[in-house]
Amino acid sequence: MTNDSATHPPAPADTTFLPGPVLLLGAPGVGKGTQAKLLMAEYGIPQISTGDILRANIANGTALGKVAKSLMDQGQLVSDDLVNQMVAERLAEPDTHRGYILDGYPRTINQALWVDNHLAAASTALPVVAISILVDYKKLLHRITGRRISPAGRIYNIYTSPPAVPGICDVDGSILVQRPDDSEEVFAERMKTFEAQTAPVVEHYRNPGRFQEVNGDLPVEAVTVAINAALHKLRQT
Ligand code: AMP
Repeated sequence: MTNDSATHPPAPADTTFLPGPVLLLGAPGVGKGTQAKLLMAEYGIPQISTGDILRANIANGTALGKVAKSLMDQGQLVSDDLVNQMVAERLAEPDTHRGYILDGYPRTINQALWVDNHLAAASTALPVVAISILVDYKKLLHRITGRRISPAGRIYNIYTSPPAVPGICDVDGSILVQRPDDSEEVFAERMKTFEAQTAPVVEHYRNPGRFQEVNGDLPVEAVTVAINAALHKLRQT
């Protein structure tokens, strides 16, 4: 199982105010990855993105990567068993003991039930809190088709946050690419998958004291402020 070093936290920070492991929920392109990376830097806890782990497996040619690639390229989900196993392995790593942000997981009711049980069984059980980020369809389409990523996982957008030199990462000079599943056609499939399989997960977590919605149609910094405010509210309940 391979992982992306960019998803490991840079330095320890104070996480005492976090109410528990944070689930970032929302449709493709709402900004889960961008916000998870900012929270990771702020709190010094890892971002666990199942999409990033799957892409790392594809890049490394693992057996899991081979199974995942065609499903991902068509906007379909990878099987619950494979993804749950991958998450179990990642949660067993020592950097998760102070908390973590789950990004793009759980995406089905079965995954949600599995992770709820898995976390409840952990000796350090902390209540999970869920933040649902909302952005409308047309804006998501624009964001997704404009998204470009660096090999290290830095996210740009040719319309809203372009690199200084087109096609080149500002930080490490690497060549930016478009994810194969960020085409308009695959985006439409991913949205259908989201409505059918992931929207019920949002409802599953919609409990007072455990759930907050955030408007994702704001500048990145404003969304981070809103997420932090939501986390503070959850801590108080
Ligand atoms: P993401 O990077 O979160 O947009 O995920 C990209 C793709 O990876 C998805 O469209 C799915 O094909 C696959 N994937 C990511 N996370 C999951 C998950 N929790 N369950 C199943 N498939 C997933």
